[in-house]
Amino acid sequence: MHFIFCIILLLLEGTLTGKESLDVVIIGAGHAGKGLCYALQKEGIKNTALFEAAQDGQESIWLTTARMNTLRSDKECVGPALSQSHLTFRAWYESQGRLWEEIEKAPTHLWGEYLLWFGKTLNLPIFYEWKLLAIKPSQDGLDLIFDQNRTVHTKKVILATGRDSFGGISIPLPVKDLPKTFWYHTSERINSALFRDKKICVLGSGASGFDIAATAIESGSYHVDMLSRREEVKTANYLFLHFKNWIQYFDLPDEEKVWLLHKAFQHGFCPPPDALKRVAFYPQFHLHLKTVIQYISPFEQGLILHTNQGNFTTDYLILATGFQCNPFFVPQISGFVEAILLWKDVIVDIPSELALFPYLGKSFEFMERTPGSAPFLKDIYCFNYGSYLSHGNTGIDIDQFPIGAQRIVEGIKKELHKQ
Ligand SMILES: Cc1cc2nc3c(=O)[nH]c(=O)nc-3n(C[C@H](O)[C@H](O)[C@H](O)COP(=O)(O)OP(=O)(O)OC[C@H]3O[C@@H](n4cnc5c(N)ncnc54)[C@H](O)[C@@H]3O)c2cc1C
Repeated sequence: MHFIFCIILLLLEGTLTGKESLDVVIIGAGHAGKGLCYALQKEGIKNTALFEAAQDGQESIWLTTARMNTLRSDKECVGPALSQSHLTFRAWYESQGRLWEEIEKAPTHLWGEYLLWFGKTLNLPIFYEWKLLAIKPSQDGLDLIFDQNRTVHTKKVILATGRDSFGGISIPLPVKDLPKTFWYHTSERINSALFRDKKICVLGSGASGFDIAATAIESGSYHVDMLSRREEVKTANYLFLHFKNWIQYFDLPDEEKVWLLHKAFQHGFCPPPDALKRVAFYPQFHLHLKTVIQYISPFEQGLILHTNQGNFTTDYLILATGFQCNPFFVPQISGFVEAILLWKDVIVDIPSELALFPYLGKSFEFMERTPGSAPFLKDIYCFNYGSYLSHGNTGIDIDQFPIGAQRIVEGIKKELHKQ
């Protein structure tokens, strides 16, 4: 039997002796994890496995927390299919007897179903319901500690764990002390029944804010206030207007990367026109710009939000405030986080929102703050939100995925050949 299947059987039976070693473990079965697993296999690196915390069919965001009707990307983007046209979304879509010309963009739930098909068709070695808790360097590689007391040994690990996994969600100060029953973040699964006959307040005017406002109204909310500190809602994304050459991004001077991303953060990550159109004709929707929450107090069964523009009552507050990057909040790397080189170690006067991004190498590997102090860091690859400042969109977005995948696979191939 093939070596990987031996390992799989051993893992499933819980009889892993600890002597077997995988070459590469990928954590997270979104488009990135599945695409990377496929890319490694294509290059002959087959002693790999992919571990996913969620149940089979519940991984990633597309069938759970992504609430837009269609993807924001171009429908032609290949993402995890890389150069194989028969594995693209288009090939899958048309194989179902659907007409490609009828859609302008990929419907979100179909993209989610396509990714499930992608993993199953390629028979990728995915283990569901394995949540990585910690990475521990060992003499000859890394021990990965999972829930239910399971351990896997590997030479290399890729953290393809998504947007919310490298520091978590951004929670504004006035919300920090509120009981959790009063607020949700757009990255959480929210039962649509929660919105029925309720007054909702959405904080933030980015794409996810508009998506959840529309979802709330379509699920029966009779009034949705969107509060935004911005002066206007822009639809053009700064980064995409001013920078297109993602292949070159990694090689830009550090100062230029910082300037570019700082501008993008200041400008905000804008909703696409579709997201605006979706709410535009709902009389239940009310946008309040230049509005900043000062403090929050209880009101009947809900809340009063006290702002610089007056008071707003709401049953629930939904945070559309995005994610933060903070390696000190990532439990899996807490044993050695101090050893990781961060951008603030390289650029002294870096803007605060960028300071804690890890300063990654060309293959997305962590680097040492003090050379020689933690050589195992080069075996851990950060292919999630943490890669944003070092690698731009190539570690995050679907259409730039092939660039990131090529870099990481080339790096791993070189490293494995050295051993
Ligand atoms: C609402 C929204 C809409 C977006 N729309 C687009 C778009 O249209 N186009 C585009 O290019 N990009 C889009 N993005 C950006 C990006 O493509 C998505 O965030 C995408 O989900 C990233 O894919 P991924 O595989 O990196 O991570 P994810 O899809 O988030 O998958 C990560 C997986 O890792 C698992 N995981 C996390 N931690 C652990 C752990 N400790 N142990 C085991 N498993 C773990 C999670 O369960 C999850 O299944 C969007 C992002 C959001 C939030």
